[in-house]
Amino acid sequence: MDEERFIIEVEKHTILYDITHQYYKDNVRKDKAWCLVGGVIGVEDETRKDVAFDVNVRMVLLAHELGLGYAALKKISKVLGIPALHLKTYQRHDKRVTVAEIERGLESLHRTREQVRQAYADVDPDVAELLREDAEAVINISVSFDGTWQKRGFTSHYGIGVCIDILTGLVIDYEILSCYCHACALKGNAKQEQKITEEEYDSWRQTHSDCARNFAGSSKAMEQESAKRMWARRKSLSTAKKVKRHQQEMQEGPTYGAGMD
Ligand SMILES: [Zn+2]
Repeated sequence: MDEERFIIEVEKHTILYDITHQYYKDNVRKDKAWCLVGGVIGVEDETRKDVAFDVNVRMVLLAHELGLGYAALKKISKVLGIPALHLKTYQRHDKRVTVAEIERGLESLHRTREQVRQAYADVDPDVAELLREDAEAVINISVSFDGTWQKRGFTSHYGIGVCIDILTGLVIDYEILSCYCHACALKGNAKQEQKITEEEYDSWRQTHSDCARNFAGSSKAMEQESAKRMWARRKSLSTAKKVKRHQQEMQEGPTYGAGMD
């Protein structure tokens, strides 16, 4: 498909990207517009939608890669002279991209742990024997630990602790701590400004299951806490089955980590 031509044709139908268009939220009209675009450039409906979807996902990925949020992405779009994503579209893709990134990270962590186990088996015949008998056996390894923060000066909202295998130098586990949740901050402000009542706030709190805040101490205390959490969950998760469980737990909050003991 000629993508340049596709973009030119899409630009002719402002309903497809202009959020101020009176029928922007009318999916029937939008589908008709897509059909017109498709008729001109000669592609199937699904292909057209996939390309539009792909561009949106890539914009969200760009924001993730640069460590930016929606407001920054909007500015970038403005400077480039391209239509900005609608906030709701951004949020929808942001969620999907985040889940995909977590899954990819966990798969990578799983592969790393396998490499570490293999490395110890290569240098220690006893470990090799143990793993031959039980591929999921917990083995003794030597690790070091380090922590860092999103910004300096012990004022960061976010910190990360990392567990590193000494033999291979590979990261085998990590723990991210956050003492800030944007949703909580927004609701807290609304309560303070009396835009919502105490009861409304309380009932919202009860339904707020995906709170980003998982630590209540100072940012200075994050390093110690992240080590404590990782060491508390030390158990072998070397099988794909267990990694699956790990993925679920990562998305829910507390995690179980490295194949170490
Ligand atoms: Zn929260």
